[in-house]
Amino acid sequence: MSSSTESDLLAKVPSQLFLGGEWVDGTSGRTIDVTDPATGLVLKTIADASVADAKRAMDIAAETQESWAATAPRVRGEILRGAFDLLQERAQEFALLMTLEMGKPLAEARGEVTYGGEFLRWFSEEAVRIAGRYGSNPEGTGRMIVTQVPVGPSYLITPWNFPLAMATRKIAPALAAGCTAIIKPAALTPLTTLYFAKLLQDAGLPDGVLGVLTTSKSGEITSPILADTRLRKLSFTGSTPVGVALLKEAANNVLRTSMELGGNAPFIVFEDADLDKAVEGALLAKFRNIGEACTAANRFIVHESIADEFARRVTERVKAFRIGRGTEEGVTIGPLINADAVSKAKSLVDDAVNRGATLLAGGSAIEGAGTFFEPTVVAGVQPGSDILREEIFGPVLSIIPFTDEADAVAKANDTEYGLVGYVYTKDLARGQRLIESVRTGMMGLNVGVVSNAAAPFGGVKQSGLGREGGFEGIHEYLSTKYTLTPDPFA
Ligand code: NAP
Repeated sequence: MSSSTESDLLAKVPSQLFLGGEWVDGTSGRTIDVTDPATGLVLKTIADASVADAKRAMDIAAETQESWAATAPRVRGEILRGAFDLLQERAQEFALLMTLEMGKPLAEARGEVTYGGEFLRWFSEEAVRIAGRYGSNPEGTGRMIVTQVPVGPSYLITPWNFPLAMATRKIAPALAAGCTAIIKPAALTPLTTLYFAKLLQDAGLPDGVLGVLTTSKSGEITSPILADTRLRKLSFTGSTPVGVALLKEAANNVLRTSMELGGNAPFIVFEDADLDKAVEGALLAKFRNIGEACTAANRFIVHESIADEFARRVTERVKAFRIGRGTEEGVTIGPLINADAVSKAKSLVDDAVNRGATLLAGGSAIEGAGTFFEPTVVAGVQPGSDILREEIFGPVLSIIPFTDEADAVAKANDTEYGLVGYVYTKDLARGQRLIESVRTGMMGLNVGVVSNAAAPFGGVKQSGLGREGGFEGIHEYLSTKYTLTPDPFA
């Protein structure tokens, strides 16, 4: 990848706020430097929104709501479909941009363009399938009309780990439902969202339907938006503590909320599993996105009779990973997002080892430019270790043995999170029992990745509220309206 390709691309990415269909400088006078986690170098300097910019974004979203809701669903859908087509044309650019600002290997970034793009296509189709119902009331004296109406202006907050897909998974259903939106991407990876807003503009999105606020003061600019009674919806993806704080703020304004929060996924391997497939699934579930995924397997709960063999096989594969800048050919593990992420991975591994786990691979930060951490395997992790409780968000695979099915289920459920679980077994009845007894919003049975645009993605317990994608996704942005009229024949 030549650096001129990179600089040509970065020159095309907007550096301003997107308000009312215009690219404008913020009023704060501040800027944000967006850096490449593989080098630590600044990629681009962009606008840093102020509270005044946030209020303006809210005014525009509120003013545009009526006309966007009145825009024919087919037209809304066609704009999203046009955006999908444009994204295919610009796929290489979006992939490179994500690799630059977030660090994931280019091949995975291309995968995210496919995944993220599918939300545009899916919700372009869903826009014209917003249904209602009509029927007699039980007494037969009237007619009940039930319709689905846009919930109203929506505020979307996204994390840094999937810069495109987390944005499209919110923007596409909001716009399809007829809601205007303001998106606030993570300060660490805002460039993809800015470039995507430009793509939507090119696809014909009317002015004011979407606003983009990039900021280093997330809390400061968010509070006035959440307090504005014209806002009707908050959709947040990020960590559980921030989600909880935002839920409290949203409660004051009785906002509809969708919360996609943290995870601590169990990955259970039974003694009858196809071990080759389980190892492949494990590597995907753990190391995809450098382990920085809410769906990343956090705890490998493996039957005691095969735990050593499983550990041996994954370790062999992990030692063969190639670490480097994601733009380099053949790299499988890029940098972590920042130095804090490296320190966290290090302290979780050290705690596990101090409590008796065996370090089979990796375990250390890599010296030099960028924020790299060695892909790591720890086996025989002891109960009480932090790594079993906390979301690792890094390339660390931790293994704990189990004795029988009840023990596996108890260990899997020993967490306040409940996003996704993975089970490997050839026994279908056992697989079905696990689907019912592991308390998560999603399960993978003999697969290591569950996400797709048609899936109702989301968790239970501290992993969140609501679902994104699937038939359910658009309903997060719709409100049910019921009308009773007299029997027209009476
Ligand atoms: P985070 O620190 O909670 O940040 C997420 C977003 O919230 C960012 O845009 C951040 O902005 C913003 N934010 C932080 N504090 C805020 C405040 N007081 N008011 C308003 N916005 C605020 O999480 P992260 O580190 O970016 O992402 C990792 C977390 O996301 C993990 O826990 C992961 O599991 C979760 N996640 C969940 C899903 C899912 O679908 N369940 C998907 C992906 C990630 P700044 O960048 O300015 O801090």
